[in-house]
Amino acid sequence: MVMRGALLLAATFALGGCAGRATEPVETQVAGALVVHDPAGWRYTVVLDTSLTFDQAENAVVATEMWAAVPGLSFDLQSAACTAGDAHTICVQGATNETLEKMGDGVAGSTRRDEAHDGAVVLLGQRLPYADRIAAHELGHAMGLVHAGEGTIMCATSGCAALTVEAADVAQFESTRD
Ligand SMILES: [Zn+2]
Repeated sequence: MVMRGALLLAATFALGGCAGRATEPVETQVAGALVVHDPAGWRYTVVLDTSLTFDQAENAVVATEMWAAVPGLSFDLQSAACTAGDAHTICVQGATNETLEKMGDGVAGSTRRDEAHDGAVVLLGQRLPYADRIAAHELGHAMGLVHAGEGTIMCATSGCAALTVEAADVAQFESTRD
């Protein structure tokens, strides 16, 4: 772990400033891989909440473009006030870094997934740089992905995460669908 990081609930991506501090991540992760049986799990509505800043919204859009690396996966982007993830819907909200820090040291994003509906609420903070990859990481959680090894977008901290969606991330996505 090169940079500090933290993971809360099933899904938060930690990114410290580049202070180079090494701290242990606090991680609680969903056990095992989720399998999305619903064929509609290849298509998500991503709602950009009105709480997002322009930059946060931009990062969320870039994140959906990164996930286009998965053949057959598509997103409907909408801009509207959202509070929860309906079926196959990911509500992306903006948060301040102070709010995320309360979840844990170095937390830069957070995802609360509703497994029953294959939906989620994603919170994006304002940390830079790499805000787009934080958004992509959280989007991965929103779609049911869990943390993975070094060099993947789903790696838990800034020290190990890839800059974009990699082949191993695509493979994890595909492994969680029928
Ligand atoms: Zn994470």
